[in-house]
Amino acid sequence: MATFLQVLVATPAHSRLSGPLTYQSEVQLPPGTLVRVPLGSRETLGLVWPGEAAPAAGAMQIKPVREALSEIAPLDAHWLELMAFAASYYQRSAGEFALGSLPPSLRDVSRQQLQRKLAKRDKASNTVDAPRTVALAAPALTAEQAQVLQQLSRGTGTFLLHGNTGSGKTEVYLRRAAEVMAQDPQAQVMMLVPEINLTPQLEERVRKRFAALGEHAIVSMHSGMTPAQRLNSWLSAHTGQARLVLGTRLAVLASVPHLKLIVVDEEHDPSYKQQEGARYSARDLAVYRGRLQSAQVLLGSATPSLESWHHSRSPTDANDAPRYVRLSMPSRIGQGSLPQLRRVDMGKQPRRTLVSAPLLAAMRERLGRGEQVLVLLNRRGYAPVLHCTSCGWKSECPHCSAFRVFHKSDRSLRCHHCSLTQPVPRACPACGNQDIGALGHGTEKIEEHLAELLQDTRRADGSPVRIARIDADSTRAKGELVRQLAQVHDGDVDVLVGTQMVAKGHDFRRVTLVAALNPDGALFSADFRAPERLFALLSQAAGRAGRDAQLSTSHGCEMWVQTFHPAHPLFECLKQHDVAGFAEQQLTERRQAGLPPFSFQALLRAEARTQEAAQAFLNAARDTGQHGLASQGQAVTVYPAVPMGLQRVANVERAQMLIESTSRRALQSFLNHWQEDLHALRDRHKSVSRWAIDVDPLVI
Ligand code: ADP
Ligand code: ZN
Ligand code: ZN
Repeated sequence: MATFLQVLVATPAHSRLSGPLTYQSEVQLPPGTLVRVPLGSRETLGLVWPGEAAPAAGAMQIKPVREALSEIAPLDAHWLELMAFAASYYQRSAGEFALGSLPPSLRDVSRQQLQRKLAKRDKASNTVDAPRTVALAAPALTAEQAQVLQQLSRGTGTFLLHGNTGSGKTEVYLRRAAEVMAQDPQAQVMMLVPEINLTPQLEERVRKRFAALGEHAIVSMHSGMTPAQRLNSWLSAHTGQARLVLGTRLAVLASVPHLKLIVVDEEHDPSYKQQEGARYSARDLAVYRGRLQSAQVLLGSATPSLESWHHSRSPTDANDAPRYVRLSMPSRIGQGSLPQLRRVDMGKQPRRTLVSAPLLAAMRERLGRGEQVLVLLNRRGYAPVLHCTSCGWKSECPHCSAFRVFHKSDRSLRCHHCSLTQPVPRACPACGNQDIGALGHGTEKIEEHLAELLQDTRRADGSPVRIARIDADSTRAKGELVRQLAQVHDGDVDVLVGTQMVAKGHDFRRVTLVAALNPDGALFSADFRAPERLFALLSQAAGRAGRDAQLSTSHGCEMWVQTFHPAHPLFECLKQHDVAGFAEQQLTERRQAGLPPFSFQALLRAEARTQEAAQAFLNAARDTGQHGLASQGQAVTVYPAVPMGLQRVANVERAQMLIESTSRRALQSFLNHWQEDLHALRDRHKSVSRWAIDVDPLVI
């Protein structure tokens, strides 16, 4: 007799088809089984979902499952629960989350192909050494590392490892991973990094350390892999053959049945938040997953997020139990002290100075000794705006509420939001005036300017100084970033100009001076997280300096900041390397203002042809929401709709609305009830092209 199954299929965002569908099957298939099912006129990948499917009247119409992918063991209950939680928490359908997190090529790989892949895998894993022989070709631990590892080996739950750049955090991750794998021959470890560019570095280090496990025991997962590679990694993790899974945020959703440790490196990094589609935080899901699977979670950072800092505070009373345990490693390994902060008061420099005289002198001195300099500017292109000195025309993008950026290398005007690219006009398009000037400066201009300023400076061997630039423009071609970074490593570059891209994680041995030319924007930004991000960026950038012990002990290393606000408390904390002081000060402000982590937020966003239409949808949603609130008496505030900061992109108007509560549970319950109304409303607001809820948004 046929049984009825609930099956999840991939549903497009916000289709009404959000729950599982009912199919019938001749055999009982356990939840988590991957199946192929008919859907409309096509066949699609499905996932048997827990729960009874009601054999409703007209059961004859219920279509049968075409086939079960029985080569693949059913996804386990923990994984199914993770998907259910993520979907509910982030207000998406379970089908979108679950099917979206599977490797795309599972959709069309044949069962024969699967069988072959899995057979190969079995053979390979038989040749792997017993996992207990994890080689410990590791340096002797520092006292701080030993202490941290001892605490980790005795504890369970979530830990925040606060350790300076170069304090040996990665070494702690590797040791802890080795311990966990040695204790349990099946144990699997997940290590997350914020950016694809950082995976090869970590992978190399991990492969070296765990060579004894065999090459198949370590897999990567990130969006830069081919579909075949992604399927292979996923199968390795799912079958348990992979003992170590390294990846970017998407890896947190992989099936890893014997997961015993999750490491989230640079846990404060905004890249852990998915900003499109199902907007989840991989760091937060890692913490949830750890609890679910009884895996230890280790969040690491030199500048922890204020959320994690707050969750690991020392308890003020018995009712105030912190959720994470905080571990600290304040010292840098085998290196001189941390970089000295030097502030240049730009108010006392000649107007329009880009690189101040004292900074330039310091750079020359370093270069003369054969040391490297890193110059940071958070704006690519040559100049952010072109303007006409006669009529005031500016290089606005016709499709976006933004200026097109002047790129001198190919004399183009480019919109960084919709990618519209046009040649620079010879004369003002409005009045014909030939005198069009550039306003402001980007990395291209700084590169050019430094070349002039340093043209007479000689390196130790008498040769001219070599300047390079690394940003999204210079690294567009595949493999370019790796190539350019290698040049810096090899010492072929003396001055590296770049955006925040170069501040992260890279191990530039000979850099002894890092300069941030114009970081002031973030000090007074409307975005309440801007100071937190700036502090992290500058700390991380400073961490690029002085990684070579010999160089940094002889002349010290420096972080330079050019600012109009040298006495700003953020720079004071930066000077003292006082992460705790900065965090406490920011948390005090946030507490007073009722901002996260002392409140919980979500955004409802809408896009339409006109701003009015987008806002009309949101405000109507607000009205229905208020109605629900009144009946439930919840402590949730829904603010009026406003245009988004970047209001128009590619001729689409964007608006948003903030929803806030001091109770996460109240916010969640409100959003869950609201979903239904939003679907119904959307049907009446046909001009709204897209809408989405962003839970725990990072940018407001
Ligand atoms: P982080 O991840 O905190 O930046 P790493 O783990 O990368 O720090 O360590 C910084 C440097 O110190 C690396 O070159 C690493 O090989 C080295 N290192 C780490 N731990 C030790 C140790 N116990 N003894 C000697 N060198 C170490
Ligand atoms: Zn003009
Ligand atoms: Zn544009």
